[in-house]
Amino acid sequence: MLPRAVPPELPRDARGWRERARSFAERTVAPQSAAIDRTDRVPDEIVAQLARERFLGLGIPAAWDGAGGDARSTVAVLEELAYASAAVAVLVAVHLSVCAAPILAWGTDTQRSRYLRPLARGATIGAFGLTEPGAGSDAAAITTRYEPVADGYRLRGTKMFTSNAASAGVILVFATRDPARGHAGISAFVVPPGTPGFSVAQRLDKLGLRGSETTELVLDGVPVPPDALLGPEGAGLKVALGALAGGRVGIAGCALGVARAAYDALCAAAARTPTDAHRSEVARAYARLAAARALVERAAEVKDAGAPFVREASVAKLVASEAAFAIASAGVDVAGPAGARAGATAERLFRDARVFPIVEGTTEIQELLLGRELLGDRRAENP
Ligand SMILES: Cc1cc2nc3c(=O)[nH]c(=O)nc-3n(C[C@H](O)[C@H](O)[C@H](O)COP(=O)(O)OP(=O)(O)OC[C@H]3O[C@@H](n4cnc5c(N)ncnc54)[C@H](O)[C@@H]3O)c2cc1C
Repeated sequence: MLPRAVPPELPRDARGWRERARSFAERTVAPQSAAIDRTDRVPDEIVAQLARERFLGLGIPAAWDGAGGDARSTVAVLEELAYASAAVAVLVAVHLSVCAAPILAWGTDTQRSRYLRPLARGATIGAFGLTEPGAGSDAAAITTRYEPVADGYRLRGTKMFTSNAASAGVILVFATRDPARGHAGISAFVVPPGTPGFSVAQRLDKLGLRGSETTELVLDGVPVPPDALLGPEGAGLKVALGALAGGRVGIAGCALGVARAAYDALCAAAARTPTDAHRSEVARAYARLAAARALVERAAEVKDAGAPFVREASVAKLVASEAAFAIASAGVDVAGPAGARAGATAERLFRDARVFPIVEGTTEIQELLLGRELLGDRRAENP
């Protein structure tokens, strides 16, 4: 008997979700991955199919129209999607981990009904607006302001590098009531695009992850009702940091998929010219991929167990994104001049992999978080 919360057509475990995602990615995404990169667009039809496959409802209970599934299932799906197209995987990762998950965690039932249900069904896409032109790693330095007014709040400021935002129907926006209050001044708001004063100022052209929309948003006195506030007033940084910890597990899963794709491409190129130098490259890549896989799966397991997982998320994101870049870089070397040509698979994977050490907390920030965790907790076990 299947659990009642899971419709019978959906997989029940991570292995089932992985198989479903692999078959979908091979059939539907892989044939379009070069075009997604070239045109810098994920076709609407792929997004519609992601919704039909229920990947856009992963990790969300059926009670909120979600597809269920745990963190292990989610990272398995993200890995398989990223194996075919990093941009498609990042679209899903952002939607699930840093938009739907914080609304599930912090939203009232009214907010969950209004915003989470359509996200969970894939009827709309979610985005997360924290970074600004002058505030990235130091999130507490944001300057987008909110002002309480008689009928809610008004938001004013600029958000930078907001993924998915041009197509999103729900955007989490973080703003401060007064920058002098530091962390305590920051609150989170759910903002539906289309609200007067909201605009997408530009879509940013990027080195890699092309197809994943990256935008600059302008909020020019955007009016939102009182119930747009997500979580208590002043808890915005907590909402953001909790979302980013979960987000790192998802992004690590995406990086793992790119690392695996780069490993397969590297092996194929090395097999054509099997020198000892190339065998060594393959051996190093294998070790990196195996380490990344172990850490990503461990982070998802700890998250599923309901235990604190900040340390595991940081080390998984750090190692998986570095592994993807190192393997993809070796892939360009081993493929020779053909691997450096625009449009070559090795070249696309190299550009995609280069962006993972930056998104959802740079490598240096993961080291900082991890170092604080390890030295702050004397009872920390060895890995
Ligand atoms: C493709 C893409 C998609 C993104 N999507 C989103 C999104 O959807 N939503 C969102 O809010 N943001 C998003 N971002 C923004 C991303 O999270 C930030 O770029 C990242 O957090 C770094 O911030 P920054 O770019 O302002 O760099 P900065 O914080 O200015 O850092 C610049 C450099 O200095 C280093 N550095 C900074 N502080 C320290 C420190 N204390 N110790 C050591 N080194 C330090 C950094 O590691 C980095 O190398 C995205 C970025 C990219 C590239």
